[in-house]
Amino acid sequence: MPSYDPNNIFAKILRGELPCYKVYEDDKVLAFLDIMPRSPGHTLVLPKAPARNILDISADDLAHVITAAQKVAKAAVKAFSADGITIQQFNEGAGGQVVFHLHLHVIPRKAGVAMKPPASEKEKPDVLAEHAKKLAAAISG
Ligand code: AMP
Repeated sequence: MPSYDPNNIFAKILRGELPCYKVYEDDKVLAFLDIMPRSPGHTLVLPKAPARNILDISADDLAHVITAAQKVAKAAVKAFSADGITIQQFNEGAGGQVVFHLHLHVIPRKAGVAMKPPASEKEKPDVLAEHAKKLAAAISG
């Protein structure tokens, strides 16, 4: 497998070199909105550790990521009145991965509403800012 590339876009977000719509952060994990959401509130949950995907992350860091994803999922049910949550995670190009820093997609779902196709439409900044605020408030409250 290829090794971790510290110049991937999520590594730059983690270093604060690029902006994000932050939803949650602790010492091991950062969660922010996908800028091309497949549904409102679509969030990406990342380890701060430099892991390419599930094939090279430590079990401990992976446990932190899934625990944070659960926090985001529960907050999305509250903040977006979601009827369900879809979790996705892709590994290597052949597995559908595009950005090579491990991330879990937490996608709030409404009954009977299909997800948009991946990376189909960039959401407006004011909408993303409002959704991030709602989710962050639901996590801390
Ligand atoms: P994948 O690696 O297949 O899970 O896809 C990468 C995901 O990252 C896609 O859903 C993109 O919409 C999303 N994405 C790409 N660039 C950014 C960014 N700067 N901020 C937030 N999400 C992004």
